[in-house]
Amino acid sequence: MTSVPDWSGAVAALRQADSVLLIAHVTPDPDALGSALALGLALRSLGKSVQVSVGEPAFNVPASLMFLPGTELVVSPENVVSPDVVVSCDTASIHRLGVLAGVVKSAPVSIVVDHHATNEGFGTINVVDATSPATASMVLKLVDLLDIELTQEIATLIYAGIATDTGSFKYRGTSSDTLRSVARLFDTGFDHTTTARLLFDDEPFSAVRMLGQAMSNAVLVSEAAGGRGLVYTRISSHDRGNLDELAMERVIDTLRRTHEAEVACVFKQTDEGVWKASLRSKTDISVGRLASEFGGGGHTMAAGYTGTTNVDAMVTDLLAALDRQVRQ
Ligand code: 5GP
Ligand code: MN
Repeated sequence: MTSVPDWSGAVAALRQADSVLLIAHVTPDPDALGSALALGLALRSLGKSVQVSVGEPAFNVPASLMFLPGTELVVSPENVVSPDVVVSCDTASIHRLGVLAGVVKSAPVSIVVDHHATNEGFGTINVVDATSPATASMVLKLVDLLDIELTQEIATLIYAGIATDTGSFKYRGTSSDTLRSVARLFDTGFDHTTTARLLFDDEPFSAVRMLGQAMSNAVLVSEAAGGRGLVYTRISSHDRGNLDELAMERVIDTLRRTHEAEVACVFKQTDEGVWKASLRSKTDISVGRLASEFGGGGHTMAAGYTGTTNVDAMVTDLLAALDRQVRQ
């Protein structure tokens, strides 16, 4: 999606609306849910009626994100009341809205706020900026354009999105502007130390054990991607036990440390039994392009897709796609 982000269209529609529904993509990460909650709290401060939801049947905020401010705005999709305006946050494709896709399609005004280059522009108003390091930084701009006070709660949520999507300000999307935005967040006096610990350094013991098991099962394919290497592992729903799907999100961050591999992949089995692939690359192999070959998407260096076969066949297909990609 290459069109110019329609900031003024979004601001006008949000100003006019009495009721707003903010939606994060299914299996929401801190950027998706944090963006929806941040804009939700901001709009509530203007006196609007606000709902935040995720298109998973009977959605509840995952335990690991319950510390985020504003979770009282969350309603499960079954209980959503049709709003004047819907806002889809951090969602590149309408399919990632799950059971709320219909609500978005039938809404009179549908705003898309996202930073994925692959965004389909499925809104009636599209604010898509692939140069933005996180959807949360775009929410900060909306808060400013709407003249809403940046509270500690809103700052916490925006920090959660930016810190997560930039890998704690390490990834390429991080710019001096990003850091200036974060400086503004710090100026509110929000508790960044606790927020960062709860985001990155706090997991149940069973998740730490699952990480250990996933690392012990990791496979290095040195000859993959024309000799640049792939490291992968798998986590079945059995390995996961009582942990939710989000508990598998961070496994890729440990696996991708592997020096001998340009690309890392974690195959994760969902509650429904299907396998999702999370991909990361380090330099110039576009895992976003690769994931879109399999019906998924994402960014150049972080992407994902859902498999249609068993995990062994997914490994074979991934190796073939990586070889095609380096030969191009
Ligand atoms: P993760 O590996 O953290 O689940 O996802 C990495 C990136 O890829 C995120 O930006 C996420 O939005 C995107 N992504 C993951 N899975 C899918 C998918 O099935 N479809 C699309 N379009 N994007 C995905
Ligand atoms: Mn994001």
